Amino acid sequence: MNKTLIIFAFALALAVFLGLRFRKSGDRAESVETFPLTKTDAQWKEELSPQAYQVLRQHSTERPNTSPLNKVKEPGDFVCVGCGNLLFKTEHKFDSGTGWPSFYQPATQDAVGSSTDYKLVYPRTEIHCARCGGHLGHVFDDGPQPTGKRYCINGVCLEFQPEE
Ligand SMILES: [Zn+2]
Repeated sequence: MNKTLIIFAFALALAVFLGLRFRKSGDRAESVETFPLTKTDAQWKEELSPQAYQVLRQHSTERPNTSPLNKVKEPGDFVCVGCGNLLFKTEHKFDSGTGWPSFYQPATQDAVGSSTDYKLVYPRTEIHCARCGGHLGHVFDDGPQPTGKRYCINGVCLEFQPEE
């Protein structure tokens, strides 16, 4: 009898916990975070390529090994394709073997912002452009030194500008 009660209490606690979590992620989606550069969804749709729109504004992920930027090794800047904000530099790029352009740090501390993403079973840290809010990818803790971070970025969000 006691055992049944304990299991019931545990199930109830779990349900409450999951409910809170879903509500939390729902709230986040509804809350409108403000960025220095804001445009309407219609404007973004018009200005961006369909692929860039899907990733930057709809949080989609490009297929791995499809970005020509995977191969870039020459010095230069990677800017946001949505707003031109400097996001990453070649000097922080490394070959992660994942099929997505990867960096161990952003160009500057405040170039990107982050939020927690509950799309998969485990929470991930989502990365977006600090200027226009466009979704870029995710950051993981399995990168190389000196930071140990791996910024896994959709190449379609970036435009490469070689150093002159
Ligand atoms: Zn941007």
